[in-house]
Amino acid sequence: MKDVRTHVGEVMALFREYGELSRTDVIDLSGLSRSTVNQRLTSLHEFGLIREIGGAESTGGRPSSRFSLNRGRAVLLTADIGATGFVAAICDLGGTPLAHRRRTIDVWDGPEPVLSAVDACFTELLASPEAEGLPVWGVGIGVPGPVEFAAGRVVNPPIMTGWDGFDIAGWFSHHGAAVVVENDANSRAVAEARPRRHDNLISLKVGTGIGSGLVFNGQIIRGSEGAAGDIGHTRAAVADSADPLPCRCGNVGCVEAYAGGWAIIRDLALLGVHAADVGEVVALVRQGNLDAVRLVRQAGRVLGDAVADLVSILNPESIIVSGRLSDSDEVLLSGVRERVYQRSQPLATRNLTISVSQLGEFAGVMGLALITGDRIFGSERIEELFPETADRPA
Ligand SMILES: [Zn+2]
Repeated sequence: MKDVRTHVGEVMALFREYGELSRTDVIDLSGLSRSTVNQRLTSLHEFGLIREIGGAESTGGRPSSRFSLNRGRAVLLTADIGATGFVAAICDLGGTPLAHRRRTIDVWDGPEPVLSAVDACFTELLASPEAEGLPVWGVGIGVPGPVEFAAGRVVNPPIMTGWDGFDIAGWFSHHGAAVVVENDANSRAVAEARPRRHDNLISLKVGTGIGSGLVFNGQIIRGSEGAAGDIGHTRAAVADSADPLPCRCGNVGCVEAYAGGWAIIRDLALLGVHAADVGEVVALVRQGNLDAVRLVRQAGRVLGDAVADLVSILNPESIIVSGRLSDSDEVLLSGVRERVYQRSQPLATRNLTISVSQLGEFAGVMGLALITGDRIFGSERIEELFPETADRPA
């Protein structure tokens, strides 16, 4: 049974990818017939998801046949929650943050206080001029732990005490929109990979803790339990040479116990240097504090050792480092590069780039907006946005 919604998700996906397309572009890229494309463009246009723009193929008196994604049709609420703080943002349908709030929290306090603080920010943001009474079509929440993606829950998190199995999606259901819960490093990986069309990319988030997100063949690698990419709690190579250090997950010898922000703060304290948080560690590095520089470079090496095997096995085209510790400029990166190039297969590193994220603190919310968009505009969901056209004949 074909109805007007068939292929509408496909056509929408093209506008999400390219932003702006002519009728002919859509026909060429989709492989659909001209009449099908015309009908789908009409549906998307009537629903306000695309709009006509001037200039382009003049076909003798016909109206403009060039369209762009109407990014301002609705908004997405997003919150990228880290161990010690979050960024909440209203994003347009293209994933661009329009307004944001930043708050300090402690993820160890458990889900209720943290999610209440997030929702209070959403309320504020929805009252801001940028939201202008626009409908909320989706909510995307990023958390620093493994996520059962389909259910919108955290599962067996190493550090998020009290969050195990908590119904995060249910907490935000009062917005009346689709709620997506995603691992923080995964959302960053999508934000980095998609705009630059990198289909094979590793994103490392290095803040208080350490996580990694893997995008391969353009898809997030979540694994069967959502635990893929939890590189911070793999065993550090350095842990084998001496008594392994205890990790905050309860295990010993984890990468985080040597290279996480909290471990660097611990090691600085042993040297009599006080840093209250990762931001202060970065400030010390920038001031040229030799202990801080040495410890952050060493953290980069531990991280590089951890990621080197992944590079050999998966052969990514880029590694992008984000998180507050990545603000220490090249110090962290030099350690990562040193070990990755030393220890990975030469063929796997021939064209590999290792760089700091240019998206800064917005990487998480931008990725969450894109992933939430995938959910609501996916071919199986987009029809929910088109109830009034459901019965129209093709
Ligand atoms: Zn651990």
